[in-house]
Amino acid sequence: MKARYSVVIPDDYHQVLHKHLLRLDGREDLCFATYNPSFGLNRFSGIISSVILPEADEREVHGNVSFKANYFERAIRVARSRKEGLVFLHSHPVPGWQGMSHDDIVAEERMAPATKAATGFPLLGMTIGTDQAWSARFWNKSQIEKRKYERNWCESVRVISDKLSITFNDNMLIPSFDAGKQLRTISAWGQKTQEDLSRMRIGIVGLGSVGSIVAEILARTGFSKFVFIDFDVVEEKNLDRTVFLRDDVGRAKVFAMKDAISRAATSPSLDVQCVEYSICEERGFTASLDCDVLFSCVDRPWPRQVINFISYGHLIPAIDGGILVRSNKNNTRLIGADWKVHTVGYGRPCLECLGQYKTSNAILEKDGKLDDPGYLQGLDRSQFQEVHENVFPFSSNVASLEVLQLLSLTVAPSGLSNIGQQTVHFVTGELERDKSHKCDANCFFPSVQGKGDSAGIEVFSKHPIAEKAREVRK
Ligand SMILES: [Zn+2]
Ligand SMILES: [Zn+2]
Repeated sequence: MKARYSVVIPDDYHQVLHKHLLRLDGREDLCFATYNPSFGLNRFSGIISSVILPEADEREVHGNVSFKANYFERAIRVARSRKEGLVFLHSHPVPGWQGMSHDDIVAEERMAPATKAATGFPLLGMTIGTDQAWSARFWNKSQIEKRKYERNWCESVRVISDKLSITFNDNMLIPSFDAGKQLRTISAWGQKTQEDLSRMRIGIVGLGSVGSIVAEILARTGFSKFVFIDFDVVEEKNLDRTVFLRDDVGRAKVFAMKDAISRAATSPSLDVQCVEYSICEERGFTASLDCDVLFSCVDRPWPRQVINFISYGHLIPAIDGGILVRSNKNNTRLIGADWKVHTVGYGRPCLECLGQYKTSNAILEKDGKLDDPGYLQGLDRSQFQEVHENVFPFSSNVASLEVLQLLSLTVAPSGLSNIGQQTVHFVTGELERDKSHKCDANCFFPSVQGKGDSAGIEVFSKHPIAEKAREVRK
């Protein structure tokens, strides 16, 4: 598959950049920045990691804006010392995704070789329009012509604040929806929103009861780009709580799910990538980095830890939920059922601080202890993972609330994008909303925010259970 490209800008840098570049006098301006790399399976993203504003004598804004050699040299030194890539940014006096003038191309082409040589990463060129929409391209060494650098346009630029705002490259990601089938959805939030939802790439990690319903809801809503990540097989016991068919028993869940949403989808062109791996394995991990948003539909501590890391390290927001059912001692009577949904990532409390998993249990799972009957003997299993007793109405409510969290995050009705953690108490029928959570002062995850592959830790590893599941299917 041809490589795809994207950029993520954390909001604190977006604020500095647009204030500098979109001048009150209407003139164009420029500056440099640095980025961390994020290597997905099919997509390479740059994560903006610092801004290098010009000193008074480093650029000329009269007439056509231009920079002096000393500014470029200083920016290269900064990128090099940070071990990061270099970004050159400028503004245009019109809105939307921007093309490049002849002068733009010449300037970036000239900087590309020295940038690559000094930093080891390709130059990233970016342009901002008057509506704060970003456009971007990477300058990679040509595979065909020696000493030539070629321009690789990004498919999107994602600005992450409480809201996820994505500018799509219309030439690469063409909106895909059927206006007839989607008439009622479009009239709810307009064509522009529907276009953007249809181009967003959604990763669903875990296709159990919640994950499979999330996939179905999204497909009916007009989402069309999916990455399904699950190593497991469809079993007889899954049929009462998922959209799978009897014939699917024995198949990998990812392929059965692809068929299921092909039946449900309203978009005329579905693009589904099936990843028959755990997110804790390298292939599952890198596939998740191709996504714009992740749904965490797993009930184990290790995958939750990996997803938590991705949402901060790679700035891909993750939507997670959990169900807790309590019954009396001999399981004959329901005492309580509560479920929580929340979105984690940039500026929000993390899954660990929200109490959704414990690092100690993630380590036990990674070491195989949670699947060792000898180790678990005599211990209370609910200490290590969520209990599996749940029923379809609970799962479907969690799935629906999770999709609503996605809509808040991306559509932000009335400007409200962060609705906090929601908890439903089934017994009393109450829905609570809590925005007071914060990460603990010594939480690890804020420290790797936006570091991407430069975070210096490897969260994936071998996963014997996933390997065995694939082996058995063969
Ligand atoms: Zn320009
Ligand atoms: Zn935390």
